[in-house]
Amino acid sequence: MPREVIDIDPTPCPAPYSRYTGQAKRICPECNQPFATQNRKRLFCSDAHKLAFHNRCAARGKVLIPLAMAWRTKRGGGGTAKKALAEMCRLLDRYAAEDREAGRMRAVDYVERGFGQGHRN
Ligand SMILES: [Zn+2]
Repeated sequence: MPREVIDIDPTPCPAPYSRYTGQAKRICPECNQPFATQNRKRLFCSDAHKLAFHNRCAARGKVLIPLAMAWRTKRGGGGTAKKALAEMCRLLDRYAAEDREAGRMRAVDYVERGFGQGHRN
């Protein structure tokens, strides 16, 4: 899939956040590229990447949430729970492969970064 070319300020920052320049250095979860921002809470290099990331999460969530809820409701036991878990794992593996192929940030890195910044997602 061709990637949209985004004009990113390549100015390097000496530290994750500089009190001297007021800039934070971030890695965009969508394009996995560094960018600098004045906003310490900004996670994405552009609104287009933020929208693409969240739209994909919403689409994936529509499929995964019912499976996860069925699995959790059955406490992991029984045929329905086992099928739901198997389907979740199959889908999660596919999503991880899609992200890897598209050059996106790994989900584990995104989640760990969010926990580090006090975000839940
Ligand atoms: Zn980006």
